[in-house]
Amino acid sequence: MSSKSKRPQPTGALRDTRIVYGAGCTYWGGIYSIGRGPVGLPGCPYCGGLLYEVQTEEEYLDCIDVNSAAAGDFGYSGFIRWNKGRPCKSLHPDLDGDSAFERLRAEYEAERQKNLQ
Ligand SMILES: [Zn+2]
Repeated sequence: MSSKSKRPQPTGALRDTRIVYGAGCTYWGGIYSIGRGPVGLPGCPYCGGLLYEVQTEEEYLDCIDVNSAAAGDFGYSGFIRWNKGRPCKSLHPDLDGDSAFERLRAEYEAERQKNLQ
């Protein structure tokens, strides 16, 4: 989250639009949200894990939307948007990573239901 970031955040044309997402966790967010991993390299702001990047949020979400539609799971796009900047869950199999997105999605659905009441 930007509140955790110590990096200056330029505006306008100087703003870095890259999006990062976890290689081994469920995190995604703006480039200014990155933290530091165990040996000081840039990493996930929550677990310090390795991050991948794309050039813009639009590129990231377009990919999510295409895959959601291909899978016939149109609620997935809303879930991923909700997950932006949230604390991550590990995707490592020894840490129940196989079900990380399912558990995170259950949190999303519970929050949605609560907000509908
Ligand atoms: Zn993480």
